[in-house]
Amino acid sequence: MNEYDSDRIFDLAKKINYQKTEKLEEADCYVLNTCHIREKATEKVYHDIGRVKKKFRNKKKPIIIVAGCVAQAEGDVLLKKEKYIDALVGPQSYHQLNEIISKIEKDFGRINFTEFEVIEKFDSLNVVESSKNNISAYLTIQEGCDKFCKFCVVPYTRGAEFSRSINEIVSECKHLVDSGSREITLLGQNVNAYSFKGKKLSNLINEISKIKDLKRIRYTTSHPIDFSNDLIEIYKNSEKLMPLIHLPVQSGSDKILQSMNRKHTIKDYLNLIYKLKKTNPAIKFSSDFIIGYPGETDGDFNDTLTLLKEVGFINSYSFIFSPRPGTPAAKMKLVDNKLAKERLLVFQKKANEIKINYRKSLYNKKVCVLFENQTKNKNKFFGRDEYLNSVIVDSSYDLKGKIKETIISKANQNTLFGEIYQKKMNNIFAA
Ligand code: SAM
Ligand code: SF4
Repeated sequence: MNEYDSDRIFDLAKKINYQKTEKLEEADCYVLNTCHIREKATEKVYHDIGRVKKKFRNKKKPIIIVAGCVAQAEGDVLLKKEKYIDALVGPQSYHQLNEIISKIEKDFGRINFTEFEVIEKFDSLNVVESSKNNISAYLTIQEGCDKFCKFCVVPYTRGAEFSRSINEIVSECKHLVDSGSREITLLGQNVNAYSFKGKKLSNLINEISKIKDLKRIRYTTSHPIDFSNDLIEIYKNSEKLMPLIHLPVQSGSDKILQSMNRKHTIKDYLNLIYKLKKTNPAIKFSSDFIIGYPGETDGDFNDTLTLLKEVGFINSYSFIFSPRPGTPAAKMKLVDNKLAKERLLVFQKKANEIKINYRKSLYNKKVCVLFENQTKNKNKFFGRDEYLNSVIVDSSYDLKGKIKETIISKANQNTLFGEIYQKKMNNIFAA
């Protein structure tokens, strides 16, 4: 979502004649868009500003704006501690960016814009055209969260759940497709909680599926308790909806899930996986895990390992619990850090093994790849298959934007390599 927000921040700044530059020492304005989900986020801001200061030693200072969830969470503390910052702008206030820049240019003093004007934000952004022409593009449809998992800052930094109107989303989607996008990933902190005037995520997916040149649809991130039957059902027939579902579970232990306030059990989660697989056997899953959550015993951790093996997640994102200031879990007794690190290593080793075996199972198999760009090596093209695996092939033809059947021949840690599948025509002899 921060990537989407950063693009929109740039689209806004373009309207007041700012351009992107790779030459950092030439920039007139820096916008640091930040994430606060895990530790070290604030330290990173100070560190990045330190690097800018170094570049501008003995030169006129550039405008420094800190955007995103660190700005929202830290507010005035950040302004007090780092005098080099000119303004803070929260994730729901960045539509005011140009006004902020112009105030700073006119020397109006330091600014803290961290309100929750989410409707106003999208109203303002709707009239600013996106300048991105990525083959695969992001589109925010929902923001914020009402679930209050005990470890998470999102409800405090992004605010309450909010869904954009279907018309706005369809129009932004058409614009992206007209600009060259062939795949859209619908974004939300709880994307499947999307609800606008009785329309749900399934209705929205059906609606954008009608856009002719849009070839692939994905969405992230889903919460298991919002996976309604209508969403499961569309996996029966939707040809554009990709069969990879990112479904964070966090832990394999019911005790820990309850203590996290996740609102479901492992049985509920496995039931959901079963229903989805029954609806469409091609579906595979990826997930997020928090290791070393307060109160996690060896037994709880083993339950997480059991779940990992049982579902066979093709991608698992795992992190040690990070106490976030202001969240209820931050006050709970931490698991010993050395033990948490050991568990993380065990978990990641197993998760990696599952991933490698899955990747090996693809050798000599055909996958469908949407090619996104040419690599630095001119004859190689990069794309992703239906399950978001990165694939590289050799081609002397421009494959950008095309979907091609590809035979996988080898793999390394992060990438699959293959060849474009060529149908062999049998010679036909006339009798
Ligand atoms: N809304 C999604 C859900 O409920 O599954 C997840 C969104 S959250 C922004 C992304 C991921 O960050 C979570 O799934 C969780 O694994 C991780 N995360 C959030 N807070 C964390 C914390 N305090 N410590 C470690 N990981 C955390
Ligand atoms: Fe955070 Fe997701 Fe829980 Fe909301 S549902 S509080 S975004 S982890």
